[in-house]
Amino acid sequence: MADCIFCKIANKEIPSTVVYEDDQVIAFKDLEPQAPVHVLVIPKKHVASIAALKSEDKELAGHILCEVIPKIAKEQGVTDSGFRVVANTGAEGGQTVNHLHFHLLGGRSMQWPPG
Ligand code: 5GP
Ligand code: ZN
Repeated sequence: MADCIFCKIANKEIPSTVVYEDDQVIAFKDLEPQAPVHVLVIPKKHVASIAALKSEDKELAGHILCEVIPKIAKEQGVTDSGFRVVANTGAEGGQTVNHLHFHLLGGRSMQWPPG
């Protein structure tokens, strides 16, 4: 989608530090990391948010959650220590980039509840 920062990152029009890529998904380091490990995992196709996912996206969503995120967590060394996956959704969810992304955060102790 034109004027979407994350579509441009997926298309390599904007540089990023890529930690994982396949035909459907790309994952890269967050520009403003909130933890020692802070990776954004996104579908290459433009989907605005979790709220915009459709039944046809089941395989893609399952791939991200069942395969990609656990693989990156392992590669980043946070599987045993623990990590957090966040998908801010919509205005009150704190979403600032309207292209579905999963934050994978780890390498430090996390607090709950979020602010
Ligand atoms: P949100 O607030 O939508 O949940 O998360 C958006 C995230 O994207 C933020 O953590 C922000 O730091 C990150 N971000 C925004 N623009 C860029 C960019 O151009 N490159 C990278 N690597 N991260 C970005
Ligand atoms: Zn996009």
